[in-house]
Amino acid sequence: MVDIYLLLFMVIILAGIVIAYGYYLKEKKEHLDAIHRGFCPKCHQNSIDVSDQRDGGCGPKIVSYTCLNCGYENSFSVDGNCSL
Ligand SMILES: [Zn+2]
Repeated sequence: MVDIYLLLFMVIILAGIVIAYGYYLKEKKEHLDAIHRGFCPKCHQNSIDVSDQRDGGCGPKIVSYTCLNCGYENSFSVDGNCSL
């Protein structure tokens, strides 16, 4: 009987992780959308700036954004354009 409870516990934990990850991705996407529209997702000022960009060639590249107004910082992986 203990095994069933353990299994149930693990399923609940796993579901929690999946839901949390889904929310994380959703929030991340909303932030990126805001940045693409040219404003900071935190203070909504037009003061967002690219602070770092690591181009991995054909792979996804990591782009970091900083807000010059409130200090918001986030990095996103963007699919790189591969033109051979
Ligand atoms: Zn800001």
